[in-house]
Amino acid sequence: MPDMDVMAIGAHPDDIEIGCGGTLIKLAQRGHSIVLVDMSRGEMATRGTIETRRQEAAAATAILGASARENLELEDGNIHSSPEARYRIARVVRKYRPAVVLLPWYEDRHPDHYHTSQAAYEGLFAAGLVRLETGQAPHRPTRVMYYMGWYEFDPTFVVDISEQFEQKMRAIYAYTTQFLPDDQAYQQTRLTSNEYNWHLTSRAAHWGAQIGVRYGEAFRIRGTMAVDDPLDVSFATF
Ligand SMILES: [Zn+2]
Repeated sequence: MPDMDVMAIGAHPDDIEIGCGGTLIKLAQRGHSIVLVDMSRGEMATRGTIETRRQEAAAATAILGASARENLELEDGNIHSSPEARYRIARVVRKYRPAVVLLPWYEDRHPDHYHTSQAAYEGLFAAGLVRLETGQAPHRPTRVMYYMGWYEFDPTFVVDISEQFEQKMRAIYAYTTQFLPDDQAYQQTRLTSNEYNWHLTSRAAHWGAQIGVRYGEAFRIRGTMAVDDPLDVSFATF
């Protein structure tokens, strides 16, 4: 298996789509290889089942243009940076050997989100340790980018997803049981309300406005971003 360009990790199937789906679609359109990793199967959600969530995730993966998706099958609602969680992260990182990894913001609202961020960070580190035995060669990606969940942060940069926004929304709404209000078999939730659709759209518009485009997704890094040629960096002061 060739090394992947990008790995995105989320706590629940649909977190990746919401946080960085537009950027992943853009990367796929540019020919980069992408693997998605869900920590859990989302079995604690108000609506849907493990099986419906699995089918929905497969449909969303195709819409994003990712070539693989793994589920680490940790317990939804109880994700922590345990030795087992770090080991499963290390194994999947060594399997796909990504150059760049996208993680949930480490101060997000949902405990599974910030615990996923921490577990993945520590698992990525462990994946580079020669003496961690998994039967695979060590690999530690050098670039980790955090995508936004519910709580906002001051971004390091914003990616223009104006051309990818509609496709991103289709990937999110591929999770029919989570987001579509018309299935009366399930009780309605915050996610199925019209307001939620508006929040997704207006947040993308908010970050797009910060860089003078229609829709954007915000990212933050730890450490300092290196710039080789300042003339290659795009921003508008005036
Ligand atoms: Zn989530």
